[in-house]
Amino acid sequence: MFDLTGQIAFVTGGANGIGKGIVEALSQAGAFVIIGDIDEENGKKTAEKVNGQYVYLDVTNQALCEKVVNQIVEEHGKLNILCSNTGIFPQVMIEDMTESDWNKTIDINLKGMFFVVQQALKVMKKQNYGRVILTSSVTGPITGYPGWAHYGASKAGQLGFMRSAALEYAKFGVTVNAIQPGNILTEGLKAQGEAYLEGTRQIVPTHELGEPIDIGYAAVFFGAKETKYITGQCIVVDGGQILPEEPSG
Ligand code: NAD
Repeated sequence: MFDLTGQIAFVTGGANGIGKGIVEALSQAGAFVIIGDIDEENGKKTAEKVNGQYVYLDVTNQALCEKVVNQIVEEHGKLNILCSNTGIFPQVMIEDMTESDWNKTIDINLKGMFFVVQQALKVMKKQNYGRVILTSSVTGPITGYPGWAHYGASKAGQLGFMRSAALEYAKFGVTVNAIQPGNILTEGLKAQGEAYLEGTRQIVPTHELGEPIDIGYAAVFFGAKETKYITGQCIVVDGGQILPEEPSG
């Protein structure tokens, strides 16, 4: 049912990890996918794999975000789907957190999201059509984790932004939704160390970490023209990790 043939999609942070899974799923569904990332080497490799396109993008650079989105529209005539997925998650305990630690995470995850989404919304409003999909997290909006206070704040902030954006753009045929991944096995997650990964496997009901493509399929759902009546909403993709269990015995 979800055929994205003819759709132009832009995925930030699409060179690696979850972004790459989103790129692959959108491409499998028929979309032409453009990857915006600071990682030129892997961005080009991923683009080549899906017969897509790579463009250098640092989401913290507002002028560059504007230029890149405008270039996509000039070259392809439209932008149907934006997946704002770029994010970092370094762990720092609150007492040790410097202003620079705070700013870096908020700048990339929250301000960078705003810079890209703002440009895409302008285009989508003119087209009277668009799908904006944010990669948020369960951490922040639903759960917490020691060392991720700044990260959680950025991810909860994304959802606050999403709800207002959904309301502002609903009358222009644009939906704005978010995916909340649990623990998905990416280079970013591997950086938390084997003890974290193993501990997580134990507590996820499936006893498995998620794969990037699991997030990709949720992006296809929100990216489809058929899901036009869903806006300002979230899908949790976490293998059931956040579900509270009934006490046993
Ligand atoms: P990752 O580190 O594997 O990939 C992140 C990508 O973003 C990389 O390609 C990197 O080059 C790119 N990037 C970093 N800074 C950038 C910048 N300034 N401009 C443009 N691109 C930049 O991370 P991931 O695990 O794939 O995470 C992707 C998204 O999913 C993030 O928003 C993260 O918060 C979210 N998320 C991940 C998990 C998980 O378990 N992996 C869970 C919940 C949410």
